[in-house]
Amino acid sequence: MQSIRSLLDELGIQYRMSGDEAVALCPSHDDMHPSWSCNTKSGVHHCFSCGFSGNLASLASYILKIPYPEAVIWVTVRAGEVRVNKWREDTKVSNYAPPAYQVSEADMSLFTDPPSRMLKVRNCTQQAAREMGVRWNNQERAYIFPVRDPKTGELWGWQEKRMRRFRNYPHGIRKSETLFGLAAFEHGSPAVLVESPISAVRLRTAGITTGLAAYGVQVSDIQLSLVRDVTEHLVLALDNDSPGMAEVRRICTKFAGFFTTLKVFNYGDYEGKDQDYMTDDQIRFGIDTARSSHFYRNTPPVPARGSRQVRRQV
Ligand SMILES: [Zn+2]
Repeated sequence: MQSIRSLLDELGIQYRMSGDEAVALCPSHDDMHPSWSCNTKSGVHHCFSCGFSGNLASLASYILKIPYPEAVIWVTVRAGEVRVNKWREDTKVSNYAPPAYQVSEADMSLFTDPPSRMLKVRNCTQQAAREMGVRWNNQERAYIFPVRDPKTGELWGWQEKRMRRFRNYPHGIRKSETLFGLAAFEHGSPAVLVESPISAVRLRTAGITTGLAAYGVQVSDIQLSLVRDVTEHLVLALDNDSPGMAEVRRICTKFAGFFTTLKVFNYGDYEGKDQDYMTDDQIRFGIDTARSSHFYRNTPPVPARGSRQVRRQV
């Protein structure tokens, strides 16, 4: 396993040490006096003159002129996965990739089908995953969820999911301007909007072919417009936790008239956070008995006599 200093050596950077910082001429601009430095504990680097900055993978990507995903592998092979992950956790710029970095379909060839046993744990089938374009990063043991232009299908990048952590490539990707699952959406029944793409795959495995994912808890106006472009009927199935329910209340309050029917997925007595570990029956029940958005508006009407109190109503 190599240290960060030996990685800098291998990249041909001539530096002097100042504390933990390796200080050198900036690789990114015509530097007369060293204005670039790399922290040899975290791998975070920064140029005070031109603003070139990022993590070791972005540095390797720039200097070796290789795509960012390959650079991640280049660094991981040398430093070991455990240390690379530690460096990532040490820094707030873990999502950083060069802004100029353009992804292409060829980047997808680095990835494989998700292992069947990983899908099986979540009750998802290979076929459903394929239909929705899900890939797998074997190096990172992470799901790859492509982020595509909603109209043309052009690849903008992807969201990577490892355990409960999500990362986006490239950084700043416009994931709030598209939805996961649009290309596979089948018309004719209400759209079911979930947070995570893997939940949409779970829905599809359960026979629900109208699942769309917002890539997170925040649903943008653009995303709701994209839903409205494909159907007038929406079931909000955001996570069964307080951020999810807060977003549900916001949407039900602000967008009540935007859809012909706007309903909220009924988790019933289910204690889990999302649909991933629900049975097919529980998912169908949640959609079939979805509740009117009236109950989720920020100033809720008095519930009709005899109706059950809405769970999680503040
Ligand atoms: Zn510079």
